[in-house]
Amino acid sequence: MTRKATTHRGMNGVRTPRKPPQLSVERDPRWAAVVARDRKADGTFFYSVKTTGVYCRPSCPSRLANPRNVRFHGTAAAAESAGFRPCRRCRPNRPPLEQGHSALVAQSCRTIEAAGSAPRLATLAAQAGMSPSHFHRVFKTLTGVTPRAYAAAQRATRVRRELTKEGRTVTEAIYAAGFNSGGRFYESSDHLLGMTPTRYRAGGADQEIHFAVGDCSLGSVLVAASARGVCAILLGDDPNALARDLQDRFPHATLVGGDAAFEQTVARVVGLVERPDMGLDLPLDVRGTAFQQRVWQALRNIPAGQTTTYSEIAARIGAPTAARAVATACAANPIAVAIPCHRVVRRDGSVSGYRWGVERKRRLLDQEIGLRKLLRGQ
Ligand SMILES: [Zn+2]
Repeated sequence: MTRKATTHRGMNGVRTPRKPPQLSVERDPRWAAVVARDRKADGTFFYSVKTTGVYCRPSCPSRLANPRNVRFHGTAAAAESAGFRPCRRCRPNRPPLEQGHSALVAQSCRTIEAAGSAPRLATLAAQAGMSPSHFHRVFKTLTGVTPRAYAAAQRATRVRRELTKEGRTVTEAIYAAGFNSGGRFYESSDHLLGMTPTRYRAGGADQEIHFAVGDCSLGSVLVAASARGVCAILLGDDPNALARDLQDRFPHATLVGGDAAFEQTVARVVGLVERPDMGLDLPLDVRGTAFQQRVWQALRNIPAGQTTTYSEIAARIGAPTAARAVATACAANPIAVAIPCHRVVRRDGSVSGYRWGVERKRRLLDQEIGLRKLLRGQ
């Protein structure tokens, strides 16, 4: 059924000297739907791209393929039996999102924006008339972020807006933005109160730190960056606790909630957490003592899927008797995963001591070691 796209040779009849000859794909009305990324055409056909080996829905937002490499298929199954993989952006092998989902998700976004604290997933899902897992998937497909990440970004935006108000302390601003809406805010407000509006306004140019919280397989991840690069990656269960930890680590900095562009930085860090072997293509702003810097640099030289010991690191940095100080420097590492302090284990190989929880360390290591075996075909 699916014929190969004819090339110019197949063109018959009139020569048009100025315009290049049209390919049969380009004359196919389905191509116009692809060019227009027509959602209404979704489900009526699929197209594959020879050069990428991938097939898509007509509305796929990826870069428009060269029509020379395009073929049409009646069903996803037909595209797969022709040897093409489903595109990871438009997910052509999944049922198309029903009409009305976007309106429901938009409504959920408004609910999140209006709420002082992040609404529960179950609440949002019930409001949209979907199961929590279905709602989570639909929300992420349409917005590109999870409901939780969306709520965190909203609160961060509100913090920033509140921070610019005259006479507000950072604590007041964070509270007003609903960032610390729990009762625990009052228990933990002491160190937040250490920052006055004066200090906020006097904050040096190099002390402005942008941050945002995202979700990853290990829980919440807070990513913070100065103008020089990523200065903190913190892992945990409670986004508010991560924000307080950031404040403690950079007590004189002006913390600014991440904007849309910063969400991409968060997405890249989440990608690093899921696939640490791929590395992070972002600059780091590593702040520490000279000794800590040497330790952290040595950590960055340990490949994913391998482990070492504190005394090995000590020997490597030319301080063979400083294993204990090495352990302390590992514990002080503010940039989880990108500075892989999780790859340091006890001499007997047992996993212990991780700033972000031993269970997370174990999962990171299991994942890396499993991946390494997989990539080696073991
Ligand atoms: Zn696609």
